[in-house]
Amino acid sequence: MKGPPLKPTPIPRGVSLDSPVDRLRGVDAKLSGKLLKLDVATIRDLLYLLPRRHNDFSNFASISELVVGEEQTIVATVWEAREKTLGQKGRLKATEAVVSDETGNIRVVWIGQPYVARVLKPNSRVALSGKVEAYRGQLQFQSPEFEILDKQESLIHTGRLVPVYPGTEGLTPRRLRSIIWQALEQWVPRMEDFIPEDLRKRAKLAPLPEAILQGHYPDDLISLERARKRLAFDEFFLIQMAVLKRRRSWRDAAEGISVQANPKVRDGFIASLPFSLTDAQERCLWEILADMARGTPSMNRLLQGEVGSGKTVVALAGLLEAVASGYQGSIMVPTEVLAEQHFATVSRLLGGLARPLREENLITVYLDSLPRPISVGLLTGSTRAALKRELQQRVSEGTLDIAIGTHALIQEGVEFPRLALAVVDEQHRFGVMQRAALRQRSGTTPHLLVMSATPIPRTLALTIYGDLDVSTIDQLPPGRQQVLTRNVPPERRDAAYGFVRKEVRNGRQAFVICPLIEESDAVEARAATEEYERLSTEVFPDLRLGLLHGRMTPGEKEEVMGRFRNGDTDILVSTAVVEVGIDIPNATVMVVEGAHRFGLSQLHQFRGRVGRGENKSYCLLLSDYSTPEAKERLSAVERIHDGFQLAEVDLSLRGPGDYFGTRQSGLPALRVARLSDHDLLKSAREEAAMLLQDDPDLRKPHHESLAREVARFLDRVRAEVS
Ligand code: ADP
Ligand code: MG
Repeated sequence: MKGPPLKPTPIPRGVSLDSPVDRLRGVDAKLSGKLLKLDVATIRDLLYLLPRRHNDFSNFASISELVVGEEQTIVATVWEAREKTLGQKGRLKATEAVVSDETGNIRVVWIGQPYVARVLKPNSRVALSGKVEAYRGQLQFQSPEFEILDKQESLIHTGRLVPVYPGTEGLTPRRLRSIIWQALEQWVPRMEDFIPEDLRKRAKLAPLPEAILQGHYPDDLISLERARKRLAFDEFFLIQMAVLKRRRSWRDAAEGISVQANPKVRDGFIASLPFSLTDAQERCLWEILADMARGTPSMNRLLQGEVGSGKTVVALAGLLEAVASGYQGSIMVPTEVLAEQHFATVSRLLGGLARPLREENLITVYLDSLPRPISVGLLTGSTRAALKRELQQRVSEGTLDIAIGTHALIQEGVEFPRLALAVVDEQHRFGVMQRAALRQRSGTTPHLLVMSATPIPRTLALTIYGDLDVSTIDQLPPGRQQVLTRNVPPERRDAAYGFVRKEVRNGRQAFVICPLIEESDAVEARAATEEYERLSTEVFPDLRLGLLHGRMTPGEKEEVMGRFRNGDTDILVSTAVVEVGIDIPNATVMVVEGAHRFGLSQLHQFRGRVGRGENKSYCLLLSDYSTPEAKERLSAVERIHDGFQLAEVDLSLRGPGDYFGTRQSGLPALRVARLSDHDLLKSAREEAAMLLQDDPDLRKPHHESLAREVARFLDRVRAEVS
């Protein structure tokens, strides 16, 4: 096998890869605790604790060849090494040594590491790796990595590509490297490859033991990439196995409901709208109706499209079909505000039909094509208790046709006897497991339509939503315009306010979004109130401001939004939680405070609130945060106006873990794979499908270790999600 030589080591009886790390030499309870902070509990975890990067110390030099500023390695003999105190009051302890080779000698200091003096014995041979600097006209090594030769066969701290692991307090890189090396020596030769040989060859993958060893201690960058590719394949492959198995079991399990589309209902609804559907909307609607007509297996579909692309209309058309066939439907969302907005949108969209009757949290409309009226109810946590009971009762009796609400809907045990279509909005806040719970509600499985306004790059969609079919509304309704976006540095804040004032003078309106505060709704509401007061008294005392936050009652919110819609408010100050999904064609400026705290996709969504009328619109990103990363991210929003492209950028800058928050995505953190590994994902997906085709339950003898690995993976997912 390639890689640094591994000294053959015996293993104590009863120790396996899944034994706790304290079974390794020199790992005590205290150290175990520190490793746990790095999510390492077992020896296997330790082997998978892959370095963040490598230091290239493979460039050997003799002392006379050393150059200032470059990473170099020397092999030398210790002349002397002693402890020293530095600093004004002699508080800083250090080691100072002189080492030599046949070409000369050089001074070495280790600041803050007096123990090194005790380790480096005169006349011993050492390798030193690091940068050389000039000090008082002489070259010296400053705190280099060191390694005493002839103690072990392989260099692990110097002289090669040396792993740099994620740090944790009280655990030096050196100590961590030694422990991991011990685990590698013991276990790499004993590791089983769970990927079947033929697959491994077909996909041109490195064997697992080699990949693990090279992932830590690569011979060169090519071997490192080969190792990374193998380990990334494994991650994708296991996810795909899990996802495809689940998809299969759903397909085999419950019976779906066949909803035959009624063209009169659909055409009547579409004709009642003040616009015609875009081609993309029509295509997505057809895909949904075809799934619903099929019945079994029931639909399991993601409907994605940017804010304003018209998802709600499409979902509503589907719901009306379900209702026309005598079934019920629901729209479930993560927050109350979103539920209210959906209710308002649906009410408005149904407004074109004959004689809508509006009551509190309830709207009833007559369709020409149906003998009975259709009722739509709103059910949230803050719905009056009596009204809530009444609506819930109507749901369980089957007399409420469409229920819109928060997940209180599922959690409070409301029975949905005739639920045929469940629409879930803003999926990423739900997650795979909740989705499963939703599907297990009743005997037959309702059709599931997941709507997401966050454009999800295809790789991620396949990874997280691998069990869903995908429909994409990739076209905005005509007349939407590009919103000119600019980053505003702190010193230009007044200019930004001046710009808002100018727009308002010209009769336009503006939004101001307050910074995201994750602590609680209450804290965020308070901060928004303060910002509102500041803007009202100090900045815009002569203008009319409104305030919107998550702690207001639905009535208060409706009133505030109503005033803004009617043009009685010039500037609406709002928290980020309030996703103002209302159409205000007269609003032309979106100001986002603390812009660096938001995800790029979220900023893109805020921006989508303006530019809906005929006037040129603007988005101003205010931020006092000027790290290069923050600048790069925000400048991407200035440049890129395509939500999908922006999502890709966001993903590559932040990494998938942060993208949705792993917990919420119901996906284990990807440790090695990158979402830009399209080809690898594709091959993993195809191989997983082929393998399951051949051996659906992984019963064949040569799939035994794979079956164990899949089981282990599922345990990990469950542990991370729960
Ligand atoms: P999404 O849920 O994707 O954010 P909505 O369904 O809420 O989008 O639609 C956003 C706005 O665009 C709504 O006011 C809706 O009435 C309007 N709309 C939807 N489809 C069209 C269309 N094809 N043409 C014009 N306006 C549309
Ligand atoms: Mg919407």
